[in-house]
Amino acid sequence: MINQADLGLLDGFERALINHRLHMVYQPKVSLVDGTLKRVEALVRWDDPKLGVVPPSRFVPLAERYGLIDQLTHWGLTTTLRQWLDWRAKGIDTCIAFNISALSLEHLDFPDLVERMCRALDVPTDRLVLELTEGATQPLIKLMDTLTRFRIKGIGLAMDDFGVGYSTLMQLRQLPFTEIKIDRFFVDDAVTSDDSRAIVASVIQLAHSLDLSVTAEGVETEAQLDLLCDFGCDVAQGYWIARPLEPGKLSQWQADWAKRWATLSRAKVARSLKAAKPVKPVNSRRRTSPPAQAAESIRN
Ligand code: C2E
Ligand code: CA
Ligand code: CA
Repeated sequence: MINQADLGLLDGFERALINHRLHMVYQPKVSLVDGTLKRVEALVRWDDPKLGVVPPSRFVPLAERYGLIDQLTHWGLTTTLRQWLDWRAKGIDTCIAFNISALSLEHLDFPDLVERMCRALDVPTDRLVLELTEGATQPLIKLMDTLTRFRIKGIGLAMDDFGVGYSTLMQLRQLPFTEIKIDRFFVDDAVTSDDSRAIVASVIQLAHSLDLSVTAEGVETEAQLDLLCDFGCDVAQGYWIARPLEPGKLSQWQADWAKRWATLSRAKVARSLKAAKPVKPVNSRRRTSPPAQAAESIRN
């Protein structure tokens, strides 16, 4: 039984979907090797005249439960692919990360539909990465066929929120993922907690040994970014780098970020030169190899 509050939300959401009152914002993800923009993650926004701003964590699960998720996915993907074309016309040739509910993957023809949508707009499929989260009721392993079809079409697959929820290292080995995203819970803790630091370092090392790229989510401080660079993490995303942006703001952000990155790189080189002097070891800057014990605990 749906309660009154959810019913009101669902009704409002359906109207917003029909009346084009949803919109997308895009959060940049940057390379930790050279600071360049790797891709942008599309995130849906709903600002309702009556209900105010409703967060996706509130309405996406309702859309999943009450049969509106495919419509949301279709609208969101079309909007994002069109946005990609607009950026490209302005000289920004980036990749798109798009969140997909595991429910949409239950349709075997879904990969064909996504490919057709890309073809119709002339967006190369290798510019698209789908982000998936393991749910209690939708084990990804059951969706192996669908996931493999996406890979055959050149579409990338990222396991979202890795480390919380139901995702396991075993699945990383079995499923055709190209990327994992370490959940922001670990990133947030990594600077202060030895355990989280060991987990982040171990996950990066293990993912690399499985030939997967690693993105760290929820980077909110320079110290976190530093640590992730030291651990060899590939890509970072978070408020410290950029908040989710309106599409027209991407170009200005890119110019501002390039300047910030240049300052950061210089500071990092200066710090490592200082650390290289045989005065006394600076433990927090050391390239730590993850304790075997932590790797073992993750495997179990
Ligand atoms: P997600 O895929 O894990 O997306 C990351 C969420 O973390 C976003 O919240 C983003 O705004 C937020 N975030 C990014 N950097 C930081 C940071 O440094 N600190 C903190 N505290 N938060 C940060 P948002 O936009 O509210 O989205 C929440 C969730 O809703 C997403 O989690 C995703 O699972 C889902 N979602 C969002 N847009 C879509 C969509 O178009 N389709 C589907 N199926 N799900 C969506
Ligand atoms: Ca995501
Ligand atoms: Ca996530």
